[in-house]
Amino acid sequence: MTKQRALILEELRKVRTHPTAADVYEAVRRCMPRISLGTVYRNLDLLSREGLVRRIDLGTGKKRYDAFVEDHSHIRCSSCGRVDDVPLHRADGLAAMYHGVERTTGYEVQSCEIDFVGLCPECRKDSAAASRERSSRKNDLAGPEKTRK
Ligand SMILES: [Zn+2]
Ligand SMILES: [Zn+2]
Repeated sequence: MTKQRALILEELRKVRTHPTAADVYEAVRRCMPRISLGTVYRNLDLLSREGLVRRIDLGTGKKRYDAFVEDHSHIRCSSCGRVDDVPLHRADGLAAMYHGVERTTGYEVQSCEIDFVGLCPECRKDSAAASRERSSRKNDLAGPEKTRK
């Protein structure tokens, strides 16, 4: 493995934030200032073909990379775009799903990719605060309207 590729893999293994190629580039550049974004892309591509990193596409138009290749799913925040891991094991209800899929399709299921979309804990806090603010503002508006009747 080239030094560049080893460094890219090392940087990826440090984080569980599922960085984009540009994020990886920023991190790697700190140790290897002359590396180019193209080199990072090329090496990420090679690493994912070798099965050392997972390339994940969550429909956001940007591919993200994950050095944790064991079976797991992802959940993406629809508000801030953060991506977290969802540990899924065949045992938790998935076995039944695999079985059902096998029965209906005749395939032998080897793996499945389920991605979830939701609001992360931080954004949930923000949206709760925002809706509290909205409802208190609504009460202010309701005041003069009532007096008009
Ligand atoms: Zn969020
Ligand atoms: Zn992951």
